[in-house]
This record gives sequence, structure tokens and C-alpha cells, in this order.
Amino acid sequence: MSDTRLDLDLTRSAEWFERAKRVLPGGVSSPVRAFGAVGGVPPVIREARGAHTTDVDGNTYLDFVGSWGPLILGHAHPDVVRAITEAAARGTTYGAPTPGEVQLAERLTGMLPHLEQVRFVSSGTEATMSAIRLARGATRRELLVKFAGCYHGHADHLLVAAGSGLVTFGKPSSAGVPAAFTEKTLVLDLDDEAQLERVFAERGHEIAAVIVEPIPANNGLLVQRPEWHARLRELTAQHGAVLIFDEVINGFRVAAGGAAELLGITPDLATYGKIIGGGLPVGAFGGRADLMGELAPLGGVYQAGTLSGNPVAMAAGLATLDVLEREDAWTRLEALGARLQERLTPLLAAAAEPVELVRVGSIFWLSLQAGPAPRRADAIAATAAERYRGLFHGLLQRGLSIAPSAYEVGFLSLAHEPAHVDTLVDALGELLA
Ligand SMILES: *Cc1c(COP(=O)(O)O)cnc(C)c1O
Repeated sequence: MSDTRLDLDLTRSAEWFERAKRVLPGGVSSPVRAFGAVGGVPPVIREARGAHTTDVDGNTYLDFVGSWGPLILGHAHPDVVRAITEAAARGTTYGAPTPGEVQLAERLTGMLPHLEQVRFVSSGTEATMSAIRLARGATRRELLVKFAGCYHGHADHLLVAAGSGLVTFGKPSSAGVPAAFTEKTLVLDLDDEAQLERVFAERGHEIAAVIVEPIPANNGLLVQRPEWHARLRELTAQHGAVLIFDEVINGFRVAAGGAAELLGITPDLATYGKIIGGGLPVGAFGGRADLMGELAPLGGVYQAGTLSGNPVAMAAGLATLDVLEREDAWTRLEALGARLQERLTPLLAAAAEPVELVRVGSIFWLSLQAGPAPRRADAIAATAAERYRGLFHGLLQRGLSIAPSAYEVGFLSLAHEPAHVDTLVDALGELLA
């Protein structure tokens, strides 16, 4: 896969993308896939296996996108494909209780000490939306605190930009979201204990929940200081606010127990998605049994889903967790990540312009600016996007696929071999020199 192809032929991809634009807004089913931030035609993918994707022109890419997080085993892992095939042959959905959801719930609660009960949904967005409703219902409070630079899916009250000044309510960051819908969402900065303390002192009794990506990985990789995490846990506990860890990207990725394990912090509720669906649409939220008991049919907080706990998706999730545990995944992924870091760091030090590798286990991100890695969204230099574009296309031409945005992270998977990591290092070394 070290072939350097500076004449990438995307003729068929371009044809498909033209067709797509006629019937799909922007040609895509999710916006960032359109390559808006990097320009050019997105390769239209025909198939994928292991660490590689292949487009409709027959170009093969060494893939570090991993479908944006779910594919910790790589593409089309035989165990997952078998589990899906066998489950599908028994029927794809029943709208009734099924063993698979019980087994996956037992697995999750067994692996995650903070999860006493869990409910399955079909996406990460649904998981966070429902966990917030539950927290509000259980506390009988309305205020939600989130942090700038954390992504929690696209529910109305989460599409919020920080207002001007402290303790102003958030304003919608998307057209189509009424200001009234975001009035109960406070947007704070990461990495700022003093701000947290002030907000809790003033409004702690009104705060239903604080939602946070424990290791924020949707706006660069904004690793937080342990002191900040500890203070957040303390303040939420003191004021009776529900601490929600949004582990949709961190969960089963940074450790078997996700960020909660890595940071040694017990959230009240946590949300999952991506990896637990093994590449099929799954989300989950869960936590303290007293809170989960407020959910319908037991309690007054309504939440439902036609395809929730879908038997095929449950089978894919179970097969994925089986492989992760059997293959000591987190040790292997850390070793791959360490190799990337060790080999890349000297090349970055010699690069023509400043660049820093930020890494947590198998998640990596290039911070394209001078100085220490940013810890909050507004610390990312605006010039990063421009520099990223060249890097992105340089890699694509060399047959390497990373996310088409400077703000998105890369993922290593169990399908990556040390030689694949070296290929990435060599290509980055060449492009950054
Ligand atoms: C991906 C993601 C979501 C949204 O999940 P979808 O399945 O895309 O709806 C929410 N929170 C975090 C932290 C995510 O990474």
C-alpha cells in the first residue's frame, strides 16, 4: 500500500457524486462527507475490508476514518459479518423483547461499573437526547450545561453556540432551531474550573444535567486536565445535577471501560453508540438504576423506538465486543498508537511548520499550530483548516484516507498492522518536510 499515485483517477466517483447531488442534498447523507472543508470530489466507496476501502474507480485507500469511530475491528470483520448474516436469517426486527438485547445489556453492564441499566436506541443523537430528557425528568429541573467544543449529536437543544459572556443562554447554531429551544442550555468553556464554580454558585439548584465528552474528540482532540474533571464531578454531586458522560466516541475505544475508566470518574448517566453497534445503527444510554427507573414504562419519562434493540444490530455489537475482549484489543491498539507517536514525533519536530500529534490510545489528531495542544475549542487556530487541506489531499493521492476536516480525529483499528502505521508516518513525514 506504499504505492504513490499522484494521478488519482476519480472519474466514476465524480459521476456518482453528480447523480447523488440531484437526489441527495449536497450529494450526501451526512454533511462532512461532501468534502466541503477540503474541496474536491469525495471517493464514492464501493466496498471495504480490514484496513482498506475501495472506491468505484477501483482505487484502494488505507483507511484511518473507520466510518468516524465505529469500526474498531476494521471493515467487514468476519465474525461481525457472520453474526449479522445469522441474525438476519432469523428475521430483522420483531418489535418484541429478544435475547440479543438482554445479552448486550448484560455485557455492557458487566463491563461498565457505572451502568446498572441500559436502554438501546438507534443512534448516538437519540442516546444523548434521551439521557438529557431522563435527567430533566428525574431532577425536575430544566437547565442543561454543555461545553463549547463538545458534540452530542443534532438534537435541537444541543445545536447551540455560546452566547456572549458568562451565564448567558446559548443561541441556536443551526437554522431551524427556535431560540426558545436553546434557552435552557448553558454553554461553558472547557478547561475552566473558575467558570464552573461561578455557574454552580449562581444556578446550581436549577441545573438538571451537565453533558460532556470526557475526552472531547469531535472538535480536535481536546484532552482535559484531571483537575478539571475532578472539579466537575464534585460540583455536579454537590448540587444534585446529573453528570452525563457522552461516551459515544470514547466508549470501548480509549479503554474497555471507556473514558470513565481511563479518568477514574463515575458518571451518573452515560451514552454510547458507534462501537457498540459493530457498524450498524445503535446507540444506548444508561447509568444509575434509580434514574433509569424513571423511564417509561416504569416512570414518567417517555422514550421509544420502532427499531430499538434491533436483533441484527445487537448481534453485530455482541460480536464486536467478543473480538475486542478476546484479542486484548486495548493493549494492541495502545501499542499501535505508541508506534505512531514514537515514529512521527521526530518528523514533526523537523517539519517546516509547527504541528503536534495529540493521541489517546487509538484516537489521534494533528494540531496544526505552534504551542501546546489546545484544550478548548476557541484555542484552535483558524489557519489550521487551510494547512489541513494540503495535507489531506497529499495523503489521499498517496492512497491514505483521513477525515476530510481539520477538526476531525483519526482512528486506528485492530485491522491496522504496524506496517500500516509506518506507511502513514512516512507519508506525513514527506508532506510535512
Ligand atoms: C458521533 C457522536 C454523537 C452522535 O452520534 P450519531 O450516531 O451520529 O447520532 C454524539 N456524541 C458523540 C460524542 C459522538 O462522537
